[in-house]
Amino acid sequence: MIEVRGVAGACVAVLGLGRSGVAAALALQAGGARALCWDDSPEARAAAQGRGLELHDLSARGAWEGVSRLVVSPGIPHLYPAPNAHIAAAWAAGVPVDNDIGLFFRSLATGEWDRFDQPPRVVAVTGSNGKSTTSALIHHILESAGRRVQLAGNIGRGVLDLDPPGDGEVIVLELSSYQTELARALTPDVAVFTNLSPDHLDRHGGMGGYFAAKRRLFAEGGPDRAVIGVDEAEGRYLANQMMEAPGDDRVIRIASGRKLSGPGWDVFARKGFLCEFRKTRQIAAIDLRDIAGLPGVHNHQNACAAYAAARSLGLSPRVIEAALRDFAGLPHRSQRIGEKNGVIYVNDSKATNVDSAEKALQAFDKIRWIAGGLGKDGGIAALRPHLGRVEKAYLIGHSARDFALQLGDCPHEICETMARAVQRAAQEARPGDTVLLAPAAASFDQYPNFEKRGEDFMARVAEQLK
Ligand code: ADP
Repeated sequence: MIEVRGVAGACVAVLGLGRSGVAAALALQAGGARALCWDDSPEARAAAQGRGLELHDLSARGAWEGVSRLVVSPGIPHLYPAPNAHIAAAWAAGVPVDNDIGLFFRSLATGEWDRFDQPPRVVAVTGSNGKSTTSALIHHILESAGRRVQLAGNIGRGVLDLDPPGDGEVIVLELSSYQTELARALTPDVAVFTNLSPDHLDRHGGMGGYFAAKRRLFAEGGPDRAVIGVDEAEGRYLANQMMEAPGDDRVIRIASGRKLSGPGWDVFARKGFLCEFRKTRQIAAIDLRDIAGLPGVHNHQNACAAYAAARSLGLSPRVIEAALRDFAGLPHRSQRIGEKNGVIYVNDSKATNVDSAEKALQAFDKIRWIAGGLGKDGGIAALRPHLGRVEKAYLIGHSARDFALQLGDCPHEICETMARAVQRAAQEARPGDTVLLAPAAASFDQYPNFEKRGEDFMARVAEQLK
């Protein structure tokens, strides 16, 4: 656990008692604060009380008296579509609002660091898609290179749950826009921006707010090195703003599908090859095409981002390449789960938005596509140009009929449930086909989360593989 610093003797309110909220409360207590905890869910409150935490009803009269700060969980809206009532009350009472990421960055450096040969460094990864894969890949590369490294944030452990880092250690953080938007301190050594596409727009008041939330990671902290995906205009703008002059190599630009040229430091993937250029010279090339854990152009983008982050931490191209080759991939992201009679089954349950589903539809051939769930604003009309490789769509969940109307002349069938969709797809698949779950929708109409949806898919596929 990382003890929160600068809070000894203070009363700090904690709103939201999920994984990160409970970790924050315990870390505040360890730092000598009195953590006053609240969650609107009685079950979450009971679980927190069971762990010895003190409950404090934030809607009670006088609840904010003596409270010096409010720490909130990422799932709680603080501004759009409307501020949470407790957060609005904290503003009204003049109580500063922060989150666990802000506490983490304030608390990380300890007096011990003065004796380290190499102070610990933090790599923070944000972007619309590929954050988890890129973070896990950076972690894997560093671990394979024998470096001490821990992974946290939106993936795995809460940040304040990490062990205090030792000499030369690296902490890799995956940060969502909810987290970067609210954190009062954001000071990574290396910041990574993978890409940008519309998502969570209701929480950020539109695309401008969404980009501004991610941009804070670069604008607030002034990282030593910024790895920036420049496939979209926002990335190009961000990279340009971070550069002091042409060729400024504090910025490493990343691209997928096209060559970058310029006097600076660039890493791009084209036709399945990753290339590194610095000061117009080619430094390295890696063939990514046969790496099973990184299928598709989208994963090649992730490979470029992780490669650049690892290079900026001083690793050699050869060491990074060896680690890329044995990366197993993450569950529920382009995850190959089985094969029978020449038909491949792929679980991409994490493809909850149109952009990630589009990438999955480009990564495989002859696709029997299982899609649907709780559709997002705009539906799937934007996917129409990418349906060329789809043999047939098998539609499930709340959005099944809506999606059917947006598929044009792509063959489809309303299946309602995962069980039926897998059964029908397996029945109709021919050798060489890929049965792909890439829902382009959230899971909450039928499942508690995308993991459970992916597990259901895997269980149904297992029945077919028997
Ligand atoms: P995040 O943590 O940003 O949600 P993940 O690595 O969990 O990213 O991947 C989320 C979804 O996006 C998965 O469906 C995955 O296959 C897809 N994906 C992964 N990397 C990229 C990328 N670079 N661009 C677009 N989609 C991606």
